[in-house]
Amino acid sequence: MANKFYVTTASAYTNAGPHIGYAMELIQGDVMARYRRQQGDDVRYVTGTDEHGTKIKRSADAAGKTPKAFTDEVSQLFRDLAPALNVSTDQFVRSTDPAHEKTAQALWKACAEDIYKASYEGWYCVGCETFYTAIDVPNHICPIHKTKLEKIAEENYFFKLSAYTSQVKELIATDKLKIYPRTRKNEIMALLEQGLEDISISRDKKQLTWGVPVPGDDNQVMYVWFDALGFYISALGYPNGADFAKYWPADIQIVGKDILRHHAAIWPAMLLSAGIEPQHALYVHGFISSGGHKMSKSLGNVVAPVQVIDRYGVDALRYYLLKEIPSESDGDFTWERMETVYNTELANDLGNLVQRVAVMITKYFGGQLGEIPAHSHDASAFEFAMNSYRFDRAIDEIWELVRGANQYIEAEKPWVLAKTDTTQLAYVLRQAVSDLTQIASLLLPFLPGTSAKILATFKDGKVDHSIGLLFPKADTIETQDIEIKG
Ligand SMILES: [Zn+2]
Repeated sequence: MANKFYVTTASAYTNAGPHIGYAMELIQGDVMARYRRQQGDDVRYVTGTDEHGTKIKRSADAAGKTPKAFTDEVSQLFRDLAPALNVSTDQFVRSTDPAHEKTAQALWKACAEDIYKASYEGWYCVGCETFYTAIDVPNHICPIHKTKLEKIAEENYFFKLSAYTSQVKELIATDKLKIYPRTRKNEIMALLEQGLEDISISRDKKQLTWGVPVPGDDNQVMYVWFDALGFYISALGYPNGADFAKYWPADIQIVGKDILRHHAAIWPAMLLSAGIEPQHALYVHGFISSGGHKMSKSLGNVVAPVQVIDRYGVDALRYYLLKEIPSESDGDFTWERMETVYNTELANDLGNLVQRVAVMITKYFGGQLGEIPAHSHDASAFEFAMNSYRFDRAIDEIWELVRGANQYIEAEKPWVLAKTDTTQLAYVLRQAVSDLTQIASLLLPFLPGTSAKILATFKDGKVDHSIGLLFPKADTIETQDIEIKG
């Protein structure tokens, strides 16, 4: 029996179209999913969109559309991104799907013992769709959006989050809910030390109608986060779906650092309340800046994933986001760095190596080498990096092999051997192909298209030149042009 592996991204909020940070999250999930499939696991990879709440209602109003028409359009942009990034998601869930709404209501009912009604006055950030306490934000300014919080007073339903502080702390302290990286574990443990406060989980319909109806109360809709967190189990058909029994608990859930508290405190507490085993792990990624600044339309430094794909191809974008953006912290994108990485690491180190070996086999052996020896390099450091979700380090390990293979060719000089020792020449080229097929196999989760091309080029010890160059040299980039186009 294959092991099951359930991986999710966060559900993307549809107040605006996808940005490069969401592309990175999708690609990180894809690496996990493809790696586990390669190990023979039965993988389910789920993504989707979160479509309720005040911010979406306001964005739809501003666009002169109904919330449904607005989210239909924006959700489609997110759905289209996975194939554009060559991301192998199994399922795309919308929080406006009727099946999702049914799950959210079932989850509410399962948490009923911890839900009570009370009047509430709090400081709300529409951008975060989150209430802050006066202790968190003494100046009433959102720590993330730097905008003024709105004071909201109404009667809502509350969830007894405070009752779960010690259980959630225990889960995280013992790594039963493991948080990658460790810095984020420390961050949430410090928050749990202060204790959790009960949270409002509904809104009065007089304030907001765009949400999932609260079961048994026509005057309230669910708070968007309560509904959105349910997405991870609605995808599996909770409460009765066979897939829920098969794939839950999630083996890993990928989230941005700004929603750590929702996923490491509120979500496990909701699951405990509902009698559901909490997820097993969280991977928390950082943010991507552009030229050292937060991406913003007013600065004109927003980088759209499709711009990078158009210029360099999808695997180059994947490489940059997985290797140049540190797996455990924030990172930066610049077109100059993209160009350098493309030309040196992708086109020179890897693309040229494949090309050189293929050309020499054709020139010296008519394109046929026969049987290729099995992989010979120790991959334990690579596997360790993969199992701790250090994508950047895993790629470094692959590039150690790429550089080693280049050095091997330089040291053995097949062009000299061709005149002196054809037995050794055949040995060296077979060894080089063996190295390249091992490299292709390790690369599969990261650069699936490139991996397939390398394997196809040397399939069965015969060179197929129709595959073409892996990373054709890009012309000197006109950075200015690209930024204006976007
Ligand atoms: Zn905010």
